[in-house]
Amino acid sequence: MDLTFSPEETEFRDELRTWLAENDPGEAPRGDEDAEYAFRRDWQRRLYDGGWAAVHWPPEYGGRGATLMQSAIFFEEMGRARAPLPANVLGLLLAGPTIMAWGTPEQQERYLTPILSAEEIWCQGFSEPEAGSDLAALKTRAVRDGDEWVVTGQKVWTSGAQYAKWCMLVARTDQDVPKHKGLSYFLMDMEQEAVQVRPLVQLTGEAEFNELFIEEARIPHANLLGGEGNGWKVALTTLMNERAGLGFFLQVRMRSVLDRLLEEATSNGSIEDPVVADRLGEMHLRTEILRLTAYRGLSTIQKYGQPGPEGSLTKWLWSETNGMLTQLAADIVGADALTTGNEWAYELLRARGNSIEGGTTEILKNIVAERVLGLPRA
Ligand SMILES: Cc1cc2nc3c(=O)[nH]c(=O)nc-3n(C[C@H](O)[C@H](O)[C@H](O)COP(=O)(O)OP(=O)(O)OC[C@H]3O[C@@H](n4cnc5c(N)ncnc54)[C@H](O)[C@@H]3O)c2cc1C
Repeated sequence: MDLTFSPEETEFRDELRTWLAENDPGEAPRGDEDAEYAFRRDWQRRLYDGGWAAVHWPPEYGGRGATLMQSAIFFEEMGRARAPLPANVLGLLLAGPTIMAWGTPEQQERYLTPILSAEEIWCQGFSEPEAGSDLAALKTRAVRDGDEWVVTGQKVWTSGAQYAKWCMLVARTDQDVPKHKGLSYFLMDMEQEAVQVRPLVQLTGEAEFNELFIEEARIPHANLLGGEGNGWKVALTTLMNERAGLGFFLQVRMRSVLDRLLEEATSNGSIEDPVVADRLGEMHLRTEILRLTAYRGLSTIQKYGQPGPEGSLTKWLWSETNGMLTQLAADIVGADALTTGNEWAYELLRARGNSIEGGTTEILKNIVAERVLGLPRA
């Protein structure tokens, strides 16, 4: 991969830098989840209005059809500007690419633009109380009733459901075939009485995710994605995008957390301690490795149109490194990092979920072993 910018790439970067300079997002409000969400939603709208919401999406879907290098420049510049994450991350990273891959032209026409503009927020209704890693064991049922499906069941850990208009819902539509074959993938409207959202409070004190209680919810047949019985394949598209995409988005964020920590270590003098300096050096190295591995994933997406199983490696490396980084931050900042409301306390506590969300580290290691390294199945 040639990392020297062509004149077009330099022009792209300068255009983005100018836009970012004129559209400073400012500081996110802290301590109020709804206000912070509204801030990120507003930021995504501004990105959309400027044509920057999803540069790597094809132009026909509202993106810029950015090349690999332009996408890399985009993420780097967002990191440099310490820009917040857009509100509709699950829409942009998961629902959008899945609808592009499996949707009918009507579905693509209907759903993609409101994802970009953050007009319609998406959540992911996969996990259930007894089906997480073993997703295919899920029990939520969908039964056909004329032109509609009637859905009953329970989902859990549904991030952002309290803001979502749509849910990527995987449900069982056939009880009589092997478990992977009996699933279908629906685009479920969250705005109906039959769908109840109950928040779950996390270690950080915020309620980022929820339980969903679904009691005879109605989904039009036109909202089936990828055809009846194909839910497993469609869900894999979502999961591969989640692992590759999250790793990419979050490595940019990790760089900005590391830069802030370097400032902290410089200002309180702890950088003079050779052990701290050594650990910071390792964090820098890991962040760079992650960045380059994430680029490799991006080139797979550009070559084959879809992320490959190596996206699992990015997510695994990211969660491990973020855990180490936030622990180092606590050591550098000292007792303040354990105080409610301190930004480092939040980072430290939130990082605990990183090795679980989007696929646990154990599952990702299995995928890397079997599908990337070609080792025999356990
Ligand atoms: C912050 C956060 C946000 C989330 N957001 C969402 C969301 O928006 N939507 C959604 O659907 N889900 C979401 N999840 C749920 C997440 O996807 C699941 O928690 C995850 O898939 C693990 O499932 P589980 O919790 O049921 O654990 P289990 O699958 O029960 O696993 C328990 C333990 O057993 C290990 N294990 C299980 N199977 C194997 C195996 N075959 N080999 C080796 N070890 C194994 C696991 O690694 C884990 O350590 C979120 C989770 C978190 C933490």
